[in-house]
Amino acid sequence: YQNEEISVPDYTETALITDAFNKMLSRMKTLDESRQEFVSNVSHELKTPMTSMKVLADSLVGQQGVPEELYQEFLSDITEEIDRENKIITDLLSLVKMDKKTADMNISNMNINELLENILKRLRPIADQRRIDLILDSFRPVTADVDEVKFTLAISNLVENGIKYNVDEGWVRVTLDADHKDFYVTVADSGLGIPEDSIERIFERFYRVDKSHSREIGGTGLGLAITRSSIAMHHGIIKVSSKEGEGTTFTVKIPLSYIPS
Ligand code: ADP
Repeated sequence: YQNEEISVPDYTETALITDAFNKMLSRMKTLDESRQEFVSNVSHELKTPMTSMKVLADSLVGQQGVPEELYQEFLSDITEEIDRENKIITDLLSLVKMDKKTADMNISNMNINELLENILKRLRPIADQRRIDLILDSFRPVTADVDEVKFTLAISNLVENGIKYNVDEGWVRVTLDADHKDFYVTVADSGLGIPEDSIERIFERFYRVDKSHSREIGGTGLGLAITRSSIAMHHGIIKVSSKEGEGTTFTVKIPLSYIPS
């Protein structure tokens, strides 16, 4: 029988382990809280159009002799709320897809000039309605490794916002440039701008600067969260600068070659 030495962790080691454990617990708590907040936001956002539809439908049910005009107006309000509900669900599904890790990336070497041209072509009819000028300045031909769908969604959201939060007869300018390592897309607009105290928060899910105004404009508050996730999946970064009443510029930087992590 031999005496075995039992190694007891000294105080510093115990303190380090306790510290790491507490940090982990606190991180888990934060994650849990943000998940709870997300679920509660989702429920709230989905319930709002539903409540309006219910009120509108209830006021028609069982009513005799409702004037045709009023009837049509209520029905068209109900259709609008359905469209809104649909948009929220579509955006949520995109966001959930983006939240899954890189395994879902469908990377190929794409002509970025062409992708941007297509985005602008698709959005031009919406811009034309308010006589907003959509400009593309490509400084050089760029090919890069991107997931076509996710990249297109990210930039489309930025251009769409440039149109939505703009003045009539304003402009949205998209530029493309590259160096030996990365390519750069900027989306600048002549629009409303973002107040300084909101700029930190615009990438948060469901955050909108002006809830009532954005609702009118048809926002869900998910667009920029989707854009940021998509760019992060490409190992890129996004920055924003803005001045209220003058306009906003988003700058996206993405590596030309995709390195799976
Ligand atoms: P939304 O669906 O409301 O447009 P986003 O996540 O795309 O949601 O944007 C969040 C908020 O950031 C918008 O509601 C708007 O207040 C503000 N915002 C985004 N882009 C712009 C822009 N180009 N100009 C001014 N405000 C913007």
